[in-house]
Amino acid sequence: MAKAFDVEAVRADFPVLARQVNGQPLAFLDSAASSQKPLQVITAISDYYQHHHANVHRGIYRLSEEATAAFECARERVARFIHAPSRKEVIFTRNATESINLVAQSWGRANLRPGDEILLTEMEHHANLVPWQLIAQEKDVRLRFIPITEDGRLDLSELDALLNPRTRMLAFTQASNVLGTLTPVRQIVDAAHAVGALALVDGAQGIPHLPVDVQALGCDFYAFSSHKMCGPTGVGVLWGQRELLEAMPPFMGGGDMIRRVSLEHSEWAALPAKFEAGTPAIAEAVGLGAAVDYLSDLGMEAVRAHEKTLTAYALERLVEVPGLTVYGPSDVDVRGGVTSFTLKEAHAHDIATILDSEGVAVRAGHHCAMPLHKKMGLSATARASFYIYNTPQEIDRLIEAIYKVKHIFGRGHL
Ligand code: PMP
Repeated sequence: MAKAFDVEAVRADFPVLARQVNGQPLAFLDSAASSQKPLQVITAISDYYQHHHANVHRGIYRLSEEATAAFECARERVARFIHAPSRKEVIFTRNATESINLVAQSWGRANLRPGDEILLTEMEHHANLVPWQLIAQEKDVRLRFIPITEDGRLDLSELDALLNPRTRMLAFTQASNVLGTLTPVRQIVDAAHAVGALALVDGAQGIPHLPVDVQALGCDFYAFSSHKMCGPTGVGVLWGQRELLEAMPPFMGGGDMIRRVSLEHSEWAALPAKFEAGTPAIAEAVGLGAAVDYLSDLGMEAVRAHEKTLTAYALERLVEVPGLTVYGPSDVDVRGGVTSFTLKEAHAHDIATILDSEGVAVRAGHHCAMPLHKKMGLSATARASFYIYNTPQEIDRLIEAIYKVKHIFGRGHL
């Protein structure tokens, strides 16, 4: 059973939501790009810098020990949040993008051979596409793609035909940042494993909104960013199966990731240090730990339930607007809180500009998914995305502002 969710209490934790924009209260509907931060996270970072900062894993003095403990405690919290079997499998990176690049470069360089195949989907963010293009080019590997259906789901009827013994990796998103689609992760992972391929899940749009248990998902790698889940920018996570991470060569070389170094050779440190060259984002990791605590206190089931209600309401209101097209599945059981749309009368950028004049922040463009937009025959969409602090009243303001766009453009007032 989901815990009761008090959206007004949540809103009170986010100082920025008290802001006015263009003389209107801010309606922040762009959390899919980056979420806002609660005081609990801001305070954790500030407290760390005010009282505990030093470099980690190095100094044999009080502050360095405190900083190291805070950093490692954040790792432990993340491990628990995603149900990782061990904190050693939690690698701090800069963001989801770097986590995926780490796998593509480190695992890919060591394991891919000419003629191998990597299976992706047509709905991937560039972060889960370009890193594979880079390694595929280098290794003469073929990229293949699971297509999407008319209503924006993955067309899994093609899956068996696309997977074969040459498939080495199936990398796919848990939730589309354009269509909102939630993918059936376990089913896809099992299909990859059945042909001996590994499965990487891009969790950037999943973990902020859904309970995540990497063991239940069954995947080999799970990548995400802190900044979309109430944490600070500058830190992300790669979780990977221990044996795989242990067998992989380092991604970057430098301090902290070695056991022993001579002028010609080095031996690598154990996990997770092997993949964390250089001074890490210490304060950011501490902030991520606080974000994980914040979300855990709300309860991820309750977070999902709140967003499902908001999404259902948004879809209901958006489809009423004449000339407006919403993309992605209409069934909120397989959809997260991302609603991309176009309007007959106006370009997405014009929509976003007029919405901003009403204090409503949405994103416009290709949302780093150009191939998906091309497939849909579009150059851009406007995207409203919802999170824990959004309310039905903000969706009403979104709709009113869209009617303002229609009014201005419908009359030809450019
Ligand atoms: N994957 C998806 C599905 C995303 O939406 C994003 C961010 N828009 C990313 C990956 C990349 O996240 P980051 O820019 O934080 O690395």
